[in-house]
Amino acid sequence: MSNVYWYGNRYVSQEEVLISPEDRGYYFGDGAYEVFRFYSGRLYETDAHLKRLWHTAAGLRLTLPFTEAELTSRLEELVRRSGAADGNVYLQITRGAAPRAHPFPKGAEPVVMAYASSVDRPLAAMETGIRAVAVEDIRWLRCDYKTLNLLPNVMAKQEALDRGADEAVLHRDGTVTECSASNLMIVKDGTVRTHPANRFILHGVTRAVVLRLARAAEIPVLEQPFTLDELASADEIFITGTTVEVTPVVALNGQAVGSGKPGPVTRRLQQQFAATLPS
Ligand code: PLP
Repeated sequence: MSNVYWYGNRYVSQEEVLISPEDRGYYFGDGAYEVFRFYSGRLYETDAHLKRLWHTAAGLRLTLPFTEAELTSRLEELVRRSGAADGNVYLQITRGAAPRAHPFPKGAEPVVMAYASSVDRPLAAMETGIRAVAVEDIRWLRCDYKTLNLLPNVMAKQEALDRGADEAVLHRDGTVTECSASNLMIVKDGTVRTHPANRFILHGVTRAVVLRLARAAEIPVLEQPFTLDELASADEIFITGTTVEVTPVVALNGQAVGSGKPGPVTRRLQQQFAATLPS
């Protein structure tokens, strides 16, 4: 079944989405995006995604052409029209279409496009875990904005796949930041540790949920940077993200992580995360 798109304030088929070759998203990656998750037809952690979208828009000096309430009802309508139980809503907003020139164009209207699609929970990867490799983080210094400029993320992900892994763990001069499309956490001596939510990482919605769950379960949490060496000696490693949820990393740079199997803290957080999902 083809997806229903929200475009030009109408619900249309993909063929009716007519993006201009002069769209600044196409020329410059000049725009913001969000990926929302829904379970059993209900959006998950909507407010956190909206907050981040407004944060990105403020950072890019992009005026969003809708209120939070208007956007939420559009997203809910897309979910309804998709007919899917579990899935994602992809939303992007560009600065509009205008002849190619770097300055913000005068009078251009933001271009909004969104669609909902059916996406299953990644149950197999969550059960068995994935392999990761370390890749240099060459992104800009505002990784807290969820912008369309994803080329360094794309390059890192492809490098991971080319090296026989599933995900790239990014590091700046040996300090681990996050992954190409997810946040990263380690467990050492029972403490969950992850990079602080500053400009060097995306402030993951799932990251925040997992930290909240860990604290509620009285699992010690440290939001402090750590090195590649500390990563390599972690007892457990896992990634978090809207589509990956809580997925164990069982191999790093070709070496087993801990026992080579998903660890007990990861398992516990997976169970707690699952309990937060709408059913
Ligand atoms: N970090 C990066 C670079 C991402 O692209 C994503 C999600 O796509 C995440 C982290 C996880 O964020 P969230 O949990 O909000 O999906």
